[in-house]
Amino acid sequence: MLIPDIIIAIDGYSSTGKSSFAKIIANEFSFLYLDSGALYRGVTLFAIENGFISDDNTINVPGLSGALENLDLHFAAGGTFIGDRCIENEIRSLAVAGKVSPIATVAEVRNFVDRKLREFGSRKRVVMDGRDIGTTVFPDAELKIFMTADPLIRAQRRADEMKAKGMEADMEDVLRNLQERDYIDSHREVSPLTQAEDAIVLDNSHMTMQDQLEWLKGIIAERFGC
Ligand code: C5P
Repeated sequence: MLIPDIIIAIDGYSSTGKSSFAKIIANEFSFLYLDSGALYRGVTLFAIENGFISDDNTINVPGLSGALENLDLHFAAGGTFIGDRCIENEIRSLAVAGKVSPIATVAEVRNFVDRKLREFGSRKRVVMDGRDIGTTVFPDAELKIFMTADPLIRAQRRADEMKAKGMEADMEDVLRNLQERDYIDSHREVSPLTQAEDAIVLDNSHMTMQDQLEWLKGIIAERFGC
């Protein structure tokens, strides 16, 4: 299937399968995939390791903002790195998941991440997933999808994913973390999680990945006539 040089923005709630879907899309259309959540998680790991966030999630905003200037956080070889250290597994832990939403409320952190994402997006043929891609990072993205699914199904998916990676995953803890993140993400002052007016909703509670890809191809055919 042919697809023009566009940006595809995928936003939505935690663990709705945004990144899995984005990776499939990238593979199908030879697009570059960018996981904006990984950058927020990377900043969070950095903040934890350098004492910029306390056990009760109090953030040293001036300290963290200043340190971001020298933070070499980037994607390489399909994973997330700080300098030459691969942090892909650590950023998926519950320790990071428990602090990432408070960190993502900090305006300086959002500016730092947005700058990186826009650098990549200037090339087009990019699919990005996050919470504010279609509203703030790329409000002019040609195709915007807003993903949602039943919370229990989402928690089960996240728990399975963690177990598959050999991590501990208690369903109640995972569900609580999802709901907390959804709440903070939807209620923060800067770039809250909201559906862009021109986004198309995808509720994939009972859809396979193949169903979702077929759904998307239908939309692309309709919209771009390919
Ligand atoms: O997508 P993922 O679950 O990895 O994102 C982790 C967290 O990063 C989210 O819960 C949210 O707090 C934050 N985030 C954000 N804006 C984005 C992407 C992620 O605030 N565009």
